[in-house]
Amino acid sequence: MTKLTRRQFSLLAGGGVAATTLGMPFIARAANPKVVVIGGGAGGGTAARYIAKDSKGAIGVTLIEPSKQYYTCFFSNLYLGGFRDYGSIGHTYENMAHEGVGVVHDWAEAIDRDKKVVRLASGASVPYDRLVVSPGIDIKYDSVPGYSVEASAKMPHAWKSGTQVQVLKAQIEAMREGGTFVMLAPPNPYRCPPGPYERISMIGHLLKQKNPKAKILVLDPKEKFSKQAVFQEGWERHYPGMVEWLPGSITGKVENVDVANMTVTAGGETYKADAASIIPPQKAGAIAEKAGLTDDKGWCPIKPATMQSAMDENIHVIGDASIASAMPKSAFAANSQAKVAANAVRGALTGSRVFPARFANTCWSLIATNDGVKVGAAYKAGEDKIEVTSNFISKTGEDADLRKQTYEESIGWYDGITKDIFG
Ligand SMILES: Cc1cc2nc3c(=O)[nH]c(=O)nc-3n(C[C@H](O)[C@H](O)[C@H](O)COP(=O)(O)OP(=O)(O)OC[C@H]3O[C@@H](n4cnc5c(N)ncnc54)[C@H](O)[C@@H]3O)c2cc1C
Repeated sequence: MTKLTRRQFSLLAGGGVAATTLGMPFIARAANPKVVVIGGGAGGGTAARYIAKDSKGAIGVTLIEPSKQYYTCFFSNLYLGGFRDYGSIGHTYENMAHEGVGVVHDWAEAIDRDKKVVRLASGASVPYDRLVVSPGIDIKYDSVPGYSVEASAKMPHAWKSGTQVQVLKAQIEAMREGGTFVMLAPPNPYRCPPGPYERISMIGHLLKQKNPKAKILVLDPKEKFSKQAVFQEGWERHYPGMVEWLPGSITGKVENVDVANMTVTAGGETYKADAASIIPPQKAGAIAEKAGLTDDKGWCPIKPATMQSAMDENIHVIGDASIASAMPKSAFAANSQAKVAANAVRGALTGSRVFPARFANTCWSLIATNDGVKVGAAYKAGEDKIEVTSNFISKTGEDADLRKQTYEESIGWYDGITKDIFG
């Protein structure tokens, strides 16, 4: 096993700050149970913070995350629409490190489940008593003929944290007058069910101001989508004649994506794009598959009461990578699952009380200025599945005050959840 460097060792201890804050030297905590969290996004960030905070130093927590700056996918559509600047959706790990989480900026390369050790790209190894895995999604590039990592520079998916959404925005802004934006929507299950349709709305908002004769064409393998009635009503109201949505029964199967010619061919018809976003099918982040935590469809089965992997009781899988049955793949859901997992991990390692698992989710979407809509539910852990206990959804024909209030609610949520994830 490669030894950790002195710097990595100090990071694991919370950079020395944690030792001071907690009033005890790291050496005394070294014998404490160890939790490693893979992935510092909505799920992993929350889990790391809550385990460290609630165990008050009784558990050593190490977060493995390659990026020093995490850009949220949530609200990236609002950046596309011009409602946020890019900097406002970026977050660092500094606060978390000051709160006692040892943050290591590296890739988790492999999980040795027998030895209970995570091997990092640097060659270092980090042992754990419990492991939380929250690597988000990976894109199934080869499931769309002609699409690839290279092709995504010209037809961005912009479906993972990072700079793709900036590329997409620049391409939309550079479209010729009256040009066509084409989106290929993903099949179920995928990250953020209303996300593609909020993206359409925000691109509509951008084009209405900069290129009002432009068209938006959505090629969708599905026959219906999240919040469909309110989205379609909103497109009619705010962007009349601009958006055309075609379900799979009309378009047929996608046969080819040609980035050189900017075309998408489906059901024998070729659609020409001036700018495009291809959002392919998805699967759990690669590390989960590599560690044998996924099923034959590429997602991780879990036990609902604790979010423990069905393959390994020392591992909890949370967020988009997990199969959380009725819960959508959202940041709200990942944050909620992280708290259930954190409570279970603490109970297992320190004997603290474990509360019955309760989950919640709300997905807000912005259709146009002050026109916010939402869908959400409360959940409990059933025997095999996470089950819905109550739900709600915005309705067509709601008045402007309610829609504005819904939008403002979403701003409050963003501020709250990013604080909850990153400290
Ligand atoms: C356009 C769009 C709009 C969205 N809007 C909303 C919204 O309004 N509300 C909402 O609730 N959700 C929204 N979402 C969904 C939300 O972004 C995800 O559901 C959420 O980020 C999932 O959290 P996660 O922890 O599972 O994954 P992520 O947040 O993606 O975090 C995974 C982290 O793991 C790291 N990682 C991956 N592999 C490794 C490895 N091997 N080693 C170490 N680290 C690794 C990555 O770097 C990443 O930081 C939206 C998504 C998109 C694409």
